[in-house]
Amino acid sequence: MLPRREIFPHVIEMNLQARRRLGCCVYLVFHESEWMLIDIGYEDTVTEIVDMIRQMDFSLAHCKYLVATHADVDHIQGLKKAKELLPSAETVGHPETKRLLLQGDRVMTYAEISAQRISIDLPTIKLDRTIDEGDILKVGGRNVEVWHTPGHTHGQLSFRLGDLLFSGDNIYRDGCVGNIDAHHGSDIPAFIKSLERIRDSNIKWLLPSHGPVFRKENALLESTIERLRGYQHMADFGTCAVDWPLLDEWDAELARGDVPTKD
Ligand SMILES: [Zn+2]
Repeated sequence: MLPRREIFPHVIEMNLQARRRLGCCVYLVFHESEWMLIDIGYEDTVTEIVDMIRQMDFSLAHCKYLVATHADVDHIQGLKKAKELLPSAETVGHPETKRLLLQGDRVMTYAEISAQRISIDLPTIKLDRTIDEGDILKVGGRNVEVWHTPGHTHGQLSFRLGDLLFSGDNIYRDGCVGNIDAHHGSDIPAFIKSLERIRDSNIKWLLPSHGPVFRKENALLESTIERLRGYQHMADFGTCAVDWPLLDEWDAELARGDVPTKD
């Protein structure tokens, strides 16, 4: 028997449970005899995670959902194996996540980053059901509410349980966000809206997909939102920018025939 290290009532995080980093955050939400997992991580940690869950005295037959917050390989590579070990669970995710996992899209999921010679297995899987904004996942007597929070990628979901938000790759404790990349379907204006929604909510705690859980502080969210507002008009993320004012300045200077001023 393993004692359950609950971070909040009815919530366990498996890296914290193991007291070492396994991969992305893997949240176990339980109520009465039912439970669910939010993300599972890489395939090579699935057996260890499921063993820990068994040792915490959860019935494997009572796993209700295996949730994919989005389709990135570090969050879902182990999903197929987890479904084999937990056949009673329904695999669920956003329709875009379902499409990417069914097609085995190696670029959008980051299984293949050829410029960096990253190439890892991506087991394809057909999600049992799609979920989207406003849907409810019932675990025992508790309701977990689905939020669609696009930006990092179109299929990014977050999950609200009371004043907790399982916030995926929206924001981490240091104010960083899930990476912004045109090839990943990142959308900076959508990202800003998702962060504003989190800021304006009465959520008290953020439970991200990477790094420690942290209290929702609007100052941190605000500084991150300001940074992303800036990115919309900067070349840093290429085609993810909505415009680049320097080009307008350049047009005007070219039309005038301006030459560099030497002090
Ligand atoms: Zn991630």
